[in-house]
Amino acid sequence: MTFDNYINGAWQAPSTGRYAANINPARPQHVLGEFADSAAADVDQAVAAARQAFAGFRTAPPPQRAGLLNRLADLMERDRDQLAHVIVKEMGKVLAEARGEVARAVAECRFMAGEAHRVGSSGYSSERPGIDIVAHRVPLGPVALISPWNFPVVTPIRKLAPAIAYGCTAVMKPASITPWSSVKLAELIDEAGFPAGVVNLVMGGGRSVGQVLTDHPDIAGVSFTGSTETGSGIYEAAAKRLARVQLELGGKNPAIVMRYADLKGAAREIASAAFQAAGQRCTALSRVIVLESQADALVEELAAVTRAMKVAEGFAEGAQIGPMVSRDQFDRVMRYMEIGRSDKAKLVVDGRSTVNDPDTDGYFHGPALFDQVERDSPLAVDEIFGPVLPVLRVADPAEALAIANSSAYGLAASVFTDEPGLAGFFASRLECGMVHVNHGTASQPHVPFGGVKNSGEGAYSIGPSACGFYTATKVVYRLDRMPD
Ligand code: NAD
Repeated sequence: MTFDNYINGAWQAPSTGRYAANINPARPQHVLGEFADSAAADVDQAVAAARQAFAGFRTAPPPQRAGLLNRLADLMERDRDQLAHVIVKEMGKVLAEARGEVARAVAECRFMAGEAHRVGSSGYSSERPGIDIVAHRVPLGPVALISPWNFPVVTPIRKLAPAIAYGCTAVMKPASITPWSSVKLAELIDEAGFPAGVVNLVMGGGRSVGQVLTDHPDIAGVSFTGSTETGSGIYEAAAKRLARVQLELGGKNPAIVMRYADLKGAAREIASAAFQAAGQRCTALSRVIVLESQADALVEELAAVTRAMKVAEGFAEGAQIGPMVSRDQFDRVMRYMEIGRSDKAKLVVDGRSTVNDPDTDGYFHGPALFDQVERDSPLAVDEIFGPVLPVLRVADPAEALAIANSSAYGLAASVFTDEPGLAGFFASRLECGMVHVNHGTASQPHVPFGGVKNSGEGAYSIGPSACGFYTATKVVYRLDRMPD
């Protein structure tokens, strides 16, 4: 079956006439469908449609914008099982997580429907009598929404819902290996009755579609989620024409364990946050920093949880870890396993025990745990984006903080401690966008989400902070004349 782009309210074949196969990473022989492999001409059409639609949609009243989002949320709820199945089939995560992703997308969409009503203006006093001064938040314009593959439903919705709430129009570009979820979303957008051109979908490669969108003179802003390398290229390209960016990038998120009694509970939280989506989450806990005196006990607990995790296709009963999304991701994880083996690190749980022939049986890699990892090892420094968890042992809180902050990234962190003073010490000094105390890195659907350093730039997404990206400020000074 072939799937086309969605431009100006209609399904449209790509100008190239080409389609790319989308496969199931649990069964690489299984082709799920052929998806439009687009080029600059398709981007031009989609941007023209978004630009034309913006002329009317920018003044659409909040109840209309909220109504569209609430209808979309209703339809996602109606089709939640179908959406979750599409996520499992093209991305590989387990069904329970896919269902959670859809529920989260619905919650974010509903919150943003409310935000449509809350976009406010602020009044200022005047130094001259009779002048009324109001700063309005106005829609930014047509925006490009570029998503990665790891959350193929929630990430496009996290971008699309605020775009609509704040009165922008949009061109969505999903990752080329997970386009199906976006096609399904575009079907629901169509059914929800969005005016033609308000939301457009163009599928294809990073350079042939993503870069053309980023460079397009009629795109006022680019909301991008993906790797730091691609994000910094987008920042550079957007800077040349002073387009706005919102960048949500990679992470190397520490779990710091210091003077915490419930090590079993900490291990459960850490393993869950480390291995969900097979470790392919920007906020995955991807290094453990533990006080030497608690390290043996924590590693024992972590090893027990890790060994017990069930690696299987996402639909299998009790499955906790599905396949890596692609052969590239699988090979990347295998490379880091080799690096760990040649390091001085101690391999405690070897995720390769579950690896079969990836070309026939899928890109499965079980969870792996390394202990006594050196602070400058690639395992401790790089974003692996897979189920490989390094443990680093430290002498005191100061050393833990120094290692945590030595990362180029600054997305999220978890701190497990029974001492409130220590929790405060880390919460105030960790260089990152989000700190979680005594639980894993789980965010909520109405709270600002983002990172600092190499983890992000621009307004935080989710919640009211998204307004900072999707709106511009317009100040109106009005001199009131006395009536004659
Ligand atoms: P990626 O950077 O390779 O691709 C992301 C998207 O950008 C895809 O749609 C891709 O086609 C497109 N793209 C590629 N080259 C482009 C270019 N030159 N111009 C414009 N667009 C281009 O990332 P990925 O491999 O899909 O995703 C994994 C990365 O995403 C990880 O680093 C992860 O940490 C990050 N991520 C971050 C967050 C966050 O919120 N901070 C969330 C999820 C994923």
